[in-house]
Amino acid sequence: MTNHPQPTQPHQSRQPLLPNTPDSCLGIMGGGQLGRMFAQAAQAMGYQVAVLEPEAGCPAAQVADQHIQAGYENHPGLMALAKLSKAVTTEFENVPADSLSLLAQSSFVAPAAACVSIAQDRLAEKHFFTRCGATTHVYPAPHWGIANQNDVAGVKDELLPGILKTVRMGYDGKGQVRVRDRAELAAAFASMNGQACVLEKMLPLAYEVSVLVTRGVDGEAVVYPIAENVHRDGILFTTVAPSTHVSADVASKAQAAALHIIAEMAYVGVLCIEFFVLKDGSLVVNEMAPRPHNSGHYTIDACVTSQFQQQVRALAQLPLGDARQHSPAAMLNILGDVWYEGDTDNMREPAWDRVLALPGAHLHLYGKAEARRARKMGHITFVAPNMAEAQDNLGKACAILGIAAPEWA
Ligand code: ATP
Ligand code: MG
Repeated sequence: MTNHPQPTQPHQSRQPLLPNTPDSCLGIMGGGQLGRMFAQAAQAMGYQVAVLEPEAGCPAAQVADQHIQAGYENHPGLMALAKLSKAVTTEFENVPADSLSLLAQSSFVAPAAACVSIAQDRLAEKHFFTRCGATTHVYPAPHWGIANQNDVAGVKDELLPGILKTVRMGYDGKGQVRVRDRAELAAAFASMNGQACVLEKMLPLAYEVSVLVTRGVDGEAVVYPIAENVHRDGILFTTVAPSTHVSADVASKAQAAALHIIAEMAYVGVLCIEFFVLKDGSLVVNEMAPRPHNSGHYTIDACVTSQFQQQVRALAQLPLGDARQHSPAAMLNILGDVWYEGDTDNMREPAWDRVLALPGAHLHLYGKAEARRARKMGHITFVAPNMAEAQDNLGKACAILGIAAPEWA
């Protein structure tokens, strides 16, 4: 699908950065698994990759051509990254916006600092989504900003029960407290050490979906099918794509909203937008991640172009790839827990040989040295001729790995 071209931003040359030349190096801020999979996709296409990340031996540094071991705000480190890389992207949303602005003085940076800043601030994000709602007819949950105890008094009754979330730095359900009434809200806000928060009305969710969308500098955008996500203990547990519950109406409304949102920001790169589908069938926009997303990992094995290859193409100002899905897919996140025998502290290597004997299994491990409980260590995507088979094999993998079976409802 194509949108109207947006004006070129300052420091954005329209010259594609072709692979396989002496200076075709792409830079990335952050060294986690998303950086690793970006580097792998970039190298497959003939690019070199430089990673800026303070941690030695991190997942991305293991595969990158260059590792600049420095903090995300370290000036010499950022200058070194800019010198090596004609174009720079990020693998996490909490990258300091000032660092992206600094890099943008000499390199092409996508997504731009201004876009990343919106995604870093839940209130700014909600204001932006609300503004987009005039066109998309999709709105965020009813909410209220809470910066001090006086704001608690201003909360309308209909926002309770609700969820208090920190405005910044929340992920995997961290920095969130569910509150039933005003007294619990006051106590929850007091426990946040003065951090600015937003209270959201607790909505009756039927299920959760995400929409992955990519936009190039020329304004062309491509959107992936609707992925359906199940969380456990606040962490993504499974993604199935295409969603088994979403109606054609809701699917096209969510995709149209995603395309509007990305165009409205003149965003360049991969963006993932999370939505709630409520019990009455209505669609609510939750939040966005300015990068490839865990719920998009299935695209590596089930789509013509993976989200990481798309990130490379957008960053190198190349034409975007086909987002078509060729096989139904079910993805299972692998947490450090599967290295432990039951609830004990005894560790052993999971039976990957048995998992890989299952039809359509694609194992991805991120090279993290230490398996800790609740730590994302990898994922497995099952592709199959139909969704029931993919889900069935995912269930068998859970049994092998000692993970409680999914409820596909
Ligand atoms: P992640 O990093 O996993 O995306 P997060 O910490 O950024 O999570 P949210 O996505 O805002 O936080 O919320 C986490 C989960 O809590 C959601 O996926 C959803 O299951 C539930 N949740 C969040 N907000 C609401 C709401 N307003 N009503 C009902 N459930 C909600
Ligand atoms: Mg979320």
